[in-house]
Amino acid sequence: MKVTAGAATDIGQVREGNEDSFILDEPLFAVADGMGGHRGGEVASKLALETVESLFRDGRGSSLAEQVREANREVFARSMQDRTVAGMGTTLTAALLEGSLVRIAHVGDSRAYLSRAGDMRLLTEDHTLVHRMVLEGEITAEEAEVHPHRSVLTRALGVDVDVAVDEGTIDLRDGDRLLLCTDGLTAMLTETQIHEILSATPVPEDAAKRLVRAANRAGGVDNITVVVLDLTSEEGDEKVQGGRAGGLAPLASPSPTPLREAPGPSSGTGTSSAGRTAVWSGVAVALLLLGLVGVRVYTDSQWYVGVSNGHVAVYRGVPSSVAGFRLHHVVVETSIRAVDAEQLALYRDLADGITAGSRAEAEAIVEQIRKDMMSTPPPPTYPAAMP
Ligand code: MN
Repeated sequence: MKVTAGAATDIGQVREGNEDSFILDEPLFAVADGMGGHRGGEVASKLALETVESLFRDGRGSSLAEQVREANREVFARSMQDRTVAGMGTTLTAALLEGSLVRIAHVGDSRAYLSRAGDMRLLTEDHTLVHRMVLEGEITAEEAEVHPHRSVLTRALGVDVDVAVDEGTIDLRDGDRLLLCTDGLTAMLTETQIHEILSATPVPEDAAKRLVRAANRAGGVDNITVVVLDLTSEEGDEKVQGGRAGGLAPLASPSPTPLREAPGPSSGTGTSSAGRTAVWSGVAVALLLLGLVGVRVYTDSQWYVGVSNGHVAVYRGVPSSVAGFRLHHVVVETSIRAVDAEQLALYRDLADGITAGSRAEAEAIVEQIRKDMMSTPPPPTYPAAMP
């Protein structure tokens, strides 16, 4: 296959830095979305992609998934060594062209789509808390799109010494278009909008730029990164199936079919190395869920105020647990007694947690509780006597 590639990245309308990175290094293409504070996010996404790229160039690592796992170890090690980037992490979605195949390796909530014969299909599965909740039937896909914790990842590179990497391959056809993107695109545009722009823009570079512009016009609340790859068969390629005059056959499977977790040291239960033949099977969903057991949940930039040991406390994470995963830990336990705060109607549900966008915001909520308690006279200890 011959590939024509285009890419665009933008800081967006709100963020102060661009923590996304991408690679166009034929036959290797990838996007990564870093997180963990300004510097941390930028370092994480760059380091992860540079590591995968140099391992690939040097022919080291037995597979793309193994190169991604090595990149995870690099980011994790740097995060441990350098206090200024402690706690950083990154998503990574990579596509490697191998003749008439593309191999995809994936961790996090960046995405790969395949556009073929007028259809667009999601190739990757988001490693997010809300996606897991959808799979478990706790919320609907529509609720997931607007869920306040939709960016909480259940997997990221650099968070732990090992990471489970999804990996799969697809047979390419003449005219296929692959899209790799970070969530700054998919949070702003629907799949229909994305597909329309892709379909209407023949040159990959132009398509990438138009997608970024559209995401910015829709609000651009996050960094936006897009890689577009056009595949055309060349002399010597195997005869492409379904390539009759008048267009290609539609995709065999119209529904989203997730990648399965690649066999590896961290894949845990549920993923034997039975081979890659069944890669696109729906069974992968169940296997993936099993594989999640023991995966540390990444809850960057999620904060809330709740109760710890009977006191008002600032937590990092989200005030819920899913399938037995605790998704939070206490950062500061204050001297304010929770029962006193809960006397005020405003803080009656304190034990459920009051979410905040940052640590500073969570601490401001604590200050507000303190003030409100001082300005409100304590309720009478006994019920007032009847007249
Ligand atoms: Mn992002």
